[in-house]
Amino acid sequence: MQTPQKIAVVGSGLVGTLLAIYLKKLGHTVHVLDRSPDIRTVEFSGRSINLVMSNRGWKALEDIGLTEEIKKIGIPVDKRAIHLKDSKLNYQYYGKEGEAIYSLSRGVLNRKMIDLAEEAGVEFFFEHRIWDVSLADATLHIGETERGEWTDLKYDKVFGADGAFSRIRHRMQRQSMFNYSQEFLHIGYKELHIPANPDGSHKIDKNSLHIWPRGNFMLMALANLDGSFTCTLFMPFEGENSFESLKDEKTLVDFFAEFFPDTKEVIPDLVRDFFKNPTSYLVMMKCFPWTHSDKVALIGDSAHAIVPFYGHGMNAGFEDITVLNEMIAKYGDDWEAIFKAYEKSRKPNADAIAELSYRNFMEMSAKTADEKFLLQKKIEKWFSDKHPDKWMPLYSRVTFSLQPYSEALAIGDFQNKIMEEVMQMENIETIWDSEAVEVKIISLLSK
Ligand SMILES: Cc1cc2nc3c(=O)[nH]c(=O)nc-3n(C[C@H](O)[C@H](O)[C@H](O)COP(=O)(O)OP(=O)(O)OC[C@H]3O[C@@H](n4cnc5c(N)ncnc54)[C@H](O)[C@@H]3O)c2cc1C
Repeated sequence: MQTPQKIAVVGSGLVGTLLAIYLKKLGHTVHVLDRSPDIRTVEFSGRSINLVMSNRGWKALEDIGLTEEIKKIGIPVDKRAIHLKDSKLNYQYYGKEGEAIYSLSRGVLNRKMIDLAEEAGVEFFFEHRIWDVSLADATLHIGETERGEWTDLKYDKVFGADGAFSRIRHRMQRQSMFNYSQEFLHIGYKELHIPANPDGSHKIDKNSLHIWPRGNFMLMALANLDGSFTCTLFMPFEGENSFESLKDEKTLVDFFAEFFPDTKEVIPDLVRDFFKNPTSYLVMMKCFPWTHSDKVALIGDSAHAIVPFYGHGMNAGFEDITVLNEMIAKYGDDWEAIFKAYEKSRKPNADAIAELSYRNFMEMSAKTADEKFLLQKKIEKWFSDKHPDKWMPLYSRVTFSLQPYSEALAIGDFQNKIMEEVMQMENIETIWDSEAVEVKIISLLSK
């Protein structure tokens, strides 16, 4: 047990709220401050970003007894449904039978987590904008405007869970030996909507992550509990087939008719949604160190903002909490040791999931429609079913296991090299499940 501390968590997003519950259960006084109004009082139509939760996220919830509560607001998703250009549908199962990720509305999940945190005794302060932090004594500076009057709030510790554009990190960036990089993708995204049928049922299979892969752009859809789907169109900002090129109603409707013909019936408000909803940016951010003495630590997107193509930003943030909690159990009241061990353990793994997520755009938007790639996946699955002790596909390592992301990345690269050789075998299309292929993989594995 730790000596009780007065702790501020800046940010009432998913990571800040879960961290607050953990800290409260450890006996601390926990204040969560957020610049936004309470999300539970803000009306939203359910059209918010959808997230997928996988094993790392569930582990962090499980350790604190929240899995069952959260599963109630999620929908299991066990496969990709690939919508080809000719409207044919291919299904690709994610893992072994019974393995699934969960589709959750970020807004609904966030509201639920704040309820659970309040029940645990966490105190929330909404519409409290943090402008700065004094790192040496964990004092927050809040106020209406950046140049107006500020109030100082003194804590024993401050956690910056204030997202990709963190103010807490902003202050840390001015320290010497603080490394930082930020990169905006040339691809943006826009949300569209598939409404429910009049009887509340889903128009397309709710247990699939739907993808319309079209090379350098793609459409995705994930089910909501109310029968609707949140769709996300990922596309370059400029150039051919870009947001810039879809200027008016006619070009938009023609574009969808050409590339996503089977969405005509299910996205009735395409034109309205497309021109009303903003086009959002995607940013990757890396930094180090994540902590300052025993006073201040970054967690979640404020420490590692990644692109969403592996569905792991929140999962990685939740895993930060699992590791922080392990370090608390190990080092007790020695917060400096806790912080050092936490950032040392997490940094290589955050970098690895950033890399995997970046690479996965091409897998989702182009390769999922490629025959050779599908055959490679089929061989991997066949070999893995036969030799589960020798082979776990990369997606399963990242999503259905708790193996550190950095190990998953390294083994994934090794396995990919093997598969490149296997795919060169003569007549691989016909001999893919033969003894020759099995022997070849086993021999390459032992090299
Ligand atoms: C399109 C898209 C799809 C995604 N899909 C997935 C997915 O499938 N699976 C997955 O795991 N992840 C996914 N993610 C990533 C996931 O949404 C984030 O990783 C996660 O929400 C980060 O949570 P956080 O609590 O660290 O930060 P945030 O959710 O950004 O929360 C930060 C909070 O801090 C507050 N704040 C910011 N600045 C201040 C300030 N100065 N003062 C006070 N408060 C402040 C904000 O109001 C906010 O409430 C996706 C992201 C996007 C964009």
